[in-house]
Amino acid sequence: MIGISPTDRVFILTGAGISAESGLPTFRGEGGLWRNRRVEEVATPEAWKRDAQLVWEFYSMRRRAASEAKPNPGHTALAALERTLGDRLFLCTQNVDNLHEQAGTRNAVHMHGELFKSRCESCALPPFDDANTYEPSAALPRCECGARIRPDICWFGEVPYDVDQIYRALNECTLFVAIGTSGVVEPAASFASHARSRGRTFYVGPEEPANTSAFTECFLGKAGALLPDLFRYE
Ligand code: NAD
Ligand code: ZN
Repeated sequence: MIGISPTDRVFILTGAGISAESGLPTFRGEGGLWRNRRVEEVATPEAWKRDAQLVWEFYSMRRRAASEAKPNPGHTALAALERTLGDRLFLCTQNVDNLHEQAGTRNAVHMHGELFKSRCESCALPPFDDANTYEPSAALPRCECGARIRPDICWFGEVPYDVDQIYRALNECTLFVAIGTSGVVEPAASFASHARSRGRTFYVGPEEPANTSAFTECFLGKAGALLPDLFRYE
């Protein structure tokens, strides 16, 4: 159990593992390959330059899979935590699916972008809702400015979204909980050691993460099984 006092400020970081029980594969576990390519070979600015059609095919597949997925008890427990803590909770997700929102979370910060949004690769057109999918031979979408429309995703090698807001919350938190994230993708992998200098840090997932030494304690098990009974209000 993790005790939360009335003065605690809680930072939650979720990764692909929290959506695994909803049927969305993680990158590093089984199913981490797409057509025998490592995901890191498709989710990059270089891949976009080389073969935009292939990149859209990959995100079309992920949009189809995510549009069928439903939140699991792990997502639901975090939505309940937000209702209890209000603005004393900061929920930062590396996931691009919308399962936190489907479960009722109102303020998730998507540091790696959102699967159901797109934006122009060039002009200042704001990101817009987009669930379109493309067949391999389809014409790809273009902006009014003439440039290509791309998924609103932070690819490997790009700067994550909302970094200033995230570090402000990390500096204020007294309790940090990482859930279902392997601890190898930076900068998120360093959040735990950053938070540890000021407070308690916990990990929830079936195996120890790569950055396990940054945690006060690891709760080993599935997010959907552990999260509903993990928090105690003191
Ligand atoms: P990762 O694939 O590197 O690691 C997943 C982690 O989840 C592993 O440590 C694994 O042990 C754990 N896990 C597996 N099943 C679990 C369960 N039932 N409960 C809790 N934990 C479980 O994922 P990552 O660290 O998030 O980093 C990879 C990148 O992949 C991120 O940038 C993220 O954007 C992206 N990604 C997102 C989705 C999604 O949006 N659903 C899916 C795959 C990958
Ligand atoms: Zn444009």
